[in-house]
Amino acid sequence: TQPKPTYKRVMLKISGEALMGDQGFGLHPPTVERIAREVQSVRDLGVEICMVIGGGNIFRGLAGSAQGMERTTADYMGMLATVMNALAMQSALEGLGVFTRVISAIRMDEVAEPYIRRRAVRHLEKGRVCIFAAGTGNPYFTTDTAATLRANEMACEVIFKGTKVDGVYDRDPLKHPGATRYDDITYDDVLVKNLKVMDASAIALARDNDLPIIVFSLDEPGGFRGILAGQGTYTIVH
Ligand code: UDP
Repeated sequence: TQPKPTYKRVMLKISGEALMGDQGFGLHPPTVERIAREVQSVRDLGVEICMVIGGGNIFRGLAGSAQGMERTTADYMGMLATVMNALAMQSALEGLGVFTRVISAIRMDEVAEPYIRRRAVRHLEKGRVCIFAAGTGNPYFTTDTAATLRANEMACEVIFKGTKVDGVYDRDPLKHPGATRYDDITYDDVLVKNLKVMDASAIALARDNDLPIIVFSLDEPGGFRGILAGQGTYTIVH
């Protein structure tokens, strides 16, 4: 028998960079497929899954504006990058037989559904993975904030933030071998200590709506499913 998952509906937030493998840029299809398999294994537990994927592997608004582009235009380009990532993930998931909808905050009806909250909820109830693309649809925001916003709207019980490490540390564990991991930490401590979990507006939005954030390693095979089955190491922000 399958383990009974701890949550019924979750948001998975991953950065665009999680999809680039060792390439340093863009999309690495085998890596996309590996993550899709992790998502599939959680879907197989009966968990309803929302996803938000960043765009930093392709374009970031801040980087564009630092090079002289107008900021809002650069941000729209960043949002378009998230659509490309969402389509790549949809392709990988559907290749595995997982029904998936890409739902865009910016209308592009030939490519993705427009965001209509009740329709998205219905997809989840039918077991379809919903990938929310184009961020919030607004410049000056990030996909961390988009993930928190959509998680609230979809009544997700938790945000899973997939990273390179298995939780939140007091210092960057990739640079400081002596860094210690928190099992749990409050939203306010994350903000005051300026820990790199998600950007501050996303943390505040999660805090104000009592939405916990589980920070875990995407590189650990079976890690996402393991946590839902009550195992593994992670940090919970609550
Ligand atoms: N972006 C935006 N509004 C949003 C979400 C994203 O303008 O609601 C733009 C912004 O320029 C950002 C880019 O899209 O730099 C890519 O998103 P993000 O940096 O969050 O991606 P990640 O770091 O998670 O890969």
